[in-house]
Formats: sequence, C-alpha cells, structure tokens
Amino acid sequence: LEALKNVKTVVMDKTGTITKGNFVVQNLNPENEMPEGELLTLAAACETASTHPIGNSIVTAAQEKGLTFETPHEIQEISGKGIRAVTHEGVILCGNRKLLEEHHVEMTSVKEDPSATTVLLAKDGTYIGSIAIADTIKSESADAIASLKRLGIHTAMLTGDGEETAKAVAAETGIDTVYSKLLPGDKLDILKELRKEHGNAMFVGDGINDAPVLAGADVGAAMGSGADAAIEAADVVFMTSSMEAIPESIRIAKQT
Ligand code: ADP
Ligand code: MG
Repeated sequence: LEALKNVKTVVMDKTGTITKGNFVVQNLNPENEMPEGELLTLAAACETASTHPIGNSIVTAAQEKGLTFETPHEIQEISGKGIRAVTHEGVILCGNRKLLEEHHVEMTSVKEDPSATTVLLAKDGTYIGSIAIADTIKSESADAIASLKRLGIHTAMLTGDGEETAKAVAAETGIDTVYSKLLPGDKLDILKELRKEHGNAMFVGDGINDAPVLAGADVGAAMGSGADAAIEAADVVFMTSSMEAIPESIRIAKQT
C-alpha cells in the first residue's frame, strides 16, 4: 500500500490489459492465388500448441471453417515474435515483421491494417500472405486513463504489437506515451527509463510475456484474467479484469 501510494507513472501492457485480448480473425490475404483455406491451415498448424491469444484465434478460425491441420514435428515459439514450425509442407514462419525479417524473408506487398494486428506467414523463406486479427479496447479503458491523469499520474503503454495498431489504441484511450514492437526484455529497460523521468512506476499486465517487467516495477499488478506466471510475479492481483481497478487501487492506497 505504501509503494502504491507513491506511484507517479503507470505503465501498461496493451494486449489483455487495455484491450480485451479476444482476438478474432478478420481477413486472410494469401499471395499468388493460394486459396485462403490453405493459408489458414498452415497458420493453424503452427499455432496448435500456442497459448497466445493470437494463436488461439487462428486455431479457432480454422476449426470453425472445418479445416484439418497437422501437428508439426517441430514447433518453436519465439516470445514476442511468433512461431517457427517444421511441417510436411516445409518450414513455416507465422508471426510479426520482426520474425520474418530475422529469417531474411522478402516482403514487398504486405498490406497492414492499422486497426488490426497483422500476422505474416512465410514458407521455406518466401512470403505467402498475411492474416488480419482484430482485438477490441475494453469499454472502461478511456475513463480509467482519465482517472489516472486526474490523480496526476503519467500513463504509458508498452506492446510487442506494430506501431500503427499501438498508436491507434493510445489515441483512442488517451495514453500519454506509447512504445511498440518491443520484445519482453525491452519492456523492463523502458520501464526503468520512465521511472527515471517520472518517478515510481507501477506496471500492469496480463502476464503473457510480461512477468520480468511485473517483477521489476515498484509495484507490479496483474489483471485477474492473467496468466499464472503473472499472478506469481505480481505484488497486486486485481480480482477483475477491469481497467478501473488501477485508479481505484491507487485511491485506496492514498486513503489508507
Ligand atoms: P503484447 O506486448 O501486445 O502483449 P506479445 O509480446 O505477447 O504482445 O507479442 C508481441 C507480438 O508478437 C504480437 O503482436 C505478434 O505480432 C507476435 N506474436 C507473439 N506470439 C505470437 C504467436 N503465437 N503467433 C503469431 N504472432 C505472435
Ligand atoms: Mg500481453
């Protein structure tokens, strides 16, 4: 409570904290006349073992379309980037731009929609298309951010998602500063910078890929819906997934 009372900056994760994290596949954009079902089948094969909300939405979309997909004999989940899987069709990459660039995949015609998270796919080093996945901002997020500002607190958002999507969410909710395209390790470095500039920092996350930064903040808070690792690493666990819990907890600390 004492540490929470002294918080001067609240740093939040985007996915699952400010947004609901209930991703739904919106659009399939295969290259070179590949059927849409084939692109989705390859993506679902990569995501079979993933617990990430993005992965879950891809597997659900494939199941809803009645597609059957193989379980690859080798799957590597690269935190904050995506999946590399070895399948009968070849080596498939399914993730963000960073993942594909790292494997030297040439992407000239990628269509990115700022209101969606774009998952890119490559097969044996060639770009084969993208999948647009939309998430929704929690209805109370903008009010909760406004309450924090009235308490004189600086607000920031950290995300591994792309710049366009990150900026759109920040603009809609009134968040002061945004950092995008981050890897889980970068989040802790930025938190330390923000702490230097604004004072004691509280980090709020749902814990998929953010346990280190939760543990490194003056106050680490996990959303009730969060992953077990986050709940373990956090100082505060909210009993709900509402963003209103953030200003409310600070108010309680000050009054106490
Ligand atoms: P956030 O910081 O928004 O909570 P993460 O660190 O969990 O995001 O992931 C960052 C980015 O990495 C995602 O926006 C996505 O582009 C990519 N990514 C992570 N996991 C997966 C996955 N299983 N499949 C596809 N893309 C993924
Ligand atoms: Mg997250």
